Amino acid sequence: MTPTHRGPAADTPITGQLPVADRRQVRRAAVHLIRQDTGAFITMIAFNALAAAAGLAGPWLLGRIINTVKDGGGVDAVDRLALGILAGALAQLLLARHARYLAHRFGERTLARIREQFVDRALALPASVVERAGAGDLTARGTTDVATAGQMLRDTGPDVFVAAVQALFILCAVFLLDPLLGVCGVLGLTGIWFATRWYLRRARSAYLEQGTAHSALAEVLAATASGARTVEALRLRERRVADSEAEIERCVTAHDRTLFLRSVLFPSIDVSYAVPVVGVLLLGGVLHEQGTVSLGTVVAAALYLQQLSQPLDTILQQVEQLQSSGASFARVEGLAVAPKGPSDPSGPTAQSKTGPVPSPEGAPENDRIEVRGVRFAYDRGADVLRGVTLSVHPGERLAIVGPSGAGKSTLSRLLAGIDTPVDGTVTVGGVPISDLPPDRLRRQVVLVTQEHHVFLGTVRDNLLIAAETATDAELGAALTAVGADWSESLPDGLDTELGPGGHRLHGAQAQQLALARVVLADPHTLILDEATALLDPTTARHTERALAAVLRGRTVIAIAHRLQTAHDADRVAVMQDGLVTELGPHEELVAADGAYAALWHSWHGEQPGPS
Ligand code: ADP
Repeated sequence: MTPTHRGPAADTPITGQLPVADRRQVRRAAVHLIRQDTGAFITMIAFNALAAAAGLAGPWLLGRIINTVKDGGGVDAVDRLALGILAGALAQLLLARHARYLAHRFGERTLARIREQFVDRALALPASVVERAGAGDLTARGTTDVATAGQMLRDTGPDVFVAAVQALFILCAVFLLDPLLGVCGVLGLTGIWFATRWYLRRARSAYLEQGTAHSALAEVLAATASGARTVEALRLRERRVADSEAEIERCVTAHDRTLFLRSVLFPSIDVSYAVPVVGVLLLGGVLHEQGTVSLGTVVAAALYLQQLSQPLDTILQQVEQLQSSGASFARVEGLAVAPKGPSDPSGPTAQSKTGPVPSPEGAPENDRIEVRGVRFAYDRGADVLRGVTLSVHPGERLAIVGPSGAGKSTLSRLLAGIDTPVDGTVTVGGVPISDLPPDRLRRQVVLVTQEHHVFLGTVRDNLLIAAETATDAELGAALTAVGADWSESLPDGLDTELGPGGHRLHGAQAQQLALARVVLADPHTLILDEATALLDPTTARHTERALAAVLRGRTVIAIAHRLQTAHDADRVAVMQDGLVTELGPHEELVAADGAYAALWHSWHGEQPGPS
């Protein structure tokens, strides 16, 4: 009587969100989890079977009592049978209790494994995948969905399992008593089967939609809360409220749908319980009249079928929970089929198909970055990069300039290994950048944008992320190198707690903290995309100079918003409409009198002049 999933749209991954595991993947994951604790699982089944067998004694012995009394048997025989009923009930109680205890322990251990696996998988997700899916989806899966799947393992699963074993044993017992009565009982149960089938066909997709609606709501609320200042500044309040209300509406509709399914299922089931008992009593009466079966057998069969309502009730009550938990488990397992990050050696990337074969250890041969024929599009949209080819020499300072939307930031994400090209290759020392494991990648290329996160913890914690073994002196030197003089006047120095409840850093300070992390990570290539945009021009210039001094000999690729940066660079790449249209030293490009020269002259005309 274990329910099967039959949602028509259930296997379709939800676009824009992280994928959802299909039924085959969910089954494989479940089998894998059981295999990790096979001993406990088998013991649990054995105790359940014993408990269910002990539960069969009662009705059978009652039937024997009726037959004994009818045949004029003595009180002693009836007493012995009654004692047997008591012993059976007691044995069932103790065995079932122990079986449930074993099941709960198994559930808790398995849940712990799921949680650990989830954290591992979430951390291995590439940043671009999380960005596209939204943090709300990942959060909803890690909290609501893991908790719902946990409830299945801890409570629902064991309860349904115990009930299923009991139901199976009871049905077998009726067949053993009298096959004809058994057939009658089973036929009487068909109403329940139809009602459940109707429900299951619709339930999985309905519960998946419910989970998706929750994720979308969490996403909207998280985005509104984190962007509260922008929302206020741009007077977007009403629009955000409208968006939230639309998502709440979607949640309500999804809940209404699942509620409707339940409101059809449960009443149909309640009516259906009486049918097999009545059927067996009617048929049993006729058979008894004909002398084919004893009265005790008819009573025992009717009692068994009456008893069947209890495990069936448990199963059907929990079917809804199982559906919702199954959908949650599919969403949790979806992380296993999400696109893999660079740390996963088996992760297929576009580059590994077309790129050069990495050296056996996968270690770059040198620090040279090669971009060859790179095309890239976001979410199957139009190409944002349309065949970019570029060599970045070790130690050079390359400035990338161009109009907004030309694809500069996109190229910097590819250079940093965050995204992989649709076509073409981005390699460092002959190895596709996105194939490098995170620790290796960190030493190789670091991208600094103007989005800086201050992690909850001390200043030291925030800096040690980049270099775990750095000494306090090295941390101090890194802060000085990026001109973060304010760090010297912090109340507790490096031990000052940052984040909500602690010391609040303003935007420019957070940016300098991020730059200090870069100094500590000491990558051979640094990509700066508006990295100093939050600093005032004087501080920005000071910080950039300080950085240049620290990063002497390193390759620096700067998305230049001020042409002064381009002027100071060794070479300038001009990007227009997804292509590198001009490439060369500042003087050459100015002399060539192309787009860069026009840009330079117009900018130069407005400026007091480069120093
Ligand atoms: P630039 O840095 O030169 O201003 P970008 O690389 O940011 O250019 O953007 C290039 C194009 O890609 C733009 O049309 C932009 O709208 C689009 N784009 C950038 N980021 C995304 C994204 N995450 N999803 C979809 N489109 C994007």
